[in-house]
Amino acid sequence: MPVLGLGMWRLREGKQARDAVRLALQHGYRLFDSASYYRNERSLGQAIRESGVPRGEVVVTTKLWNSDHGYEAALRAFRRSQERLGLGPVDLYLIHWPVQGRRKDSWRALETLHEEGEVRSIGVSNYMVHHMEELLAHAEVVPAVNQIELHPFSYRSRRATVELCRQNDIAVEAYSPLTKGRRLGDARVEAVATACGKTPAQVLIRWGLQHGFVEIPKSSHPARIHENADVFGFELSREHMETLDGLDEALSTSWDPTRQP
Ligand code: NDP
Repeated sequence: MPVLGLGMWRLREGKQARDAVRLALQHGYRLFDSASYYRNERSLGQAIRESGVPRGEVVVTTKLWNSDHGYEAALRAFRRSQERLGLGPVDLYLIHWPVQGRRKDSWRALETLHEEGEVRSIGVSNYMVHHMEELLAHAEVVPAVNQIELHPFSYRSRRATVELCRQNDIAVEAYSPLTKGRRLGDARVEAVATACGKTPAQVLIRWGLQHGFVEIPKSSHPARIHENADVFGFELSREHMETLDGLDEALSTSWDPTRQP
């Protein structure tokens, strides 16, 4: 699994999404995070097909939306996503949100797709400790990935979930790693960035990589797509990591699954 990918929420279907994917491929991104809810699967598939990058080098992710839960409904939703992508088997298919009462049946559908070879890896998103424990108690296939909101401003509050994933060899994928831009101007992040000669965005991505998370920053701007991938030639010191680890304020920038039963 590549450790850096392009987040695709709010990349518009059509030229904007295609250009972002094409550029990201040129800058070395090999992981793409879409979802049926994002409505840009067609553009993702097209850009990959036209890129000349061997299909086997790219990890394509899409997700099951909340209104498509249930065994049969999930199978049908997957087929629609697969058709829109037009890339053959999907590399990673995630349950987008732990919809109460229906998520177990949906997981069975993902297991079927995995068994049939339609999906290479299956996983979940927004699963907190109680959702993970429930899933692990009935799953025949352990999820490969749990995608959750993770950045220094939510790190401590998500730690128990991260630990549980680690204990079960489940990769932790960090969504909204740049806090959707909301904390890029934080003085403490800026101070670390200045000390390293890097940008705040690069510092947040590097922080996640050093914690072993898969980072999926989103941008539609060429210079930022490049900037966000230029994070492998420096290292944050232990002191800087500790400073960033201490910034937790239980920040959720979109939806917070903590209280989802
Ligand atoms: P991010 O934390 O990746 O931040 C994206 C925002 O930051 C955009 O407004 C972008 O603007 C801006 N930005 C990007 N790079 C830079 C930079 N170098 N300097 C300054 N600003 C920058 O937010 P997302 O919420 O998009 O999260 C990333 C991905 O995670 C999503 O795209 C999606 O794939 C996934 N996700 C999954 C969720 C889930 O429930 N499973 C929920 C939320 C996200 P611009 O585009 O104009 O550059």
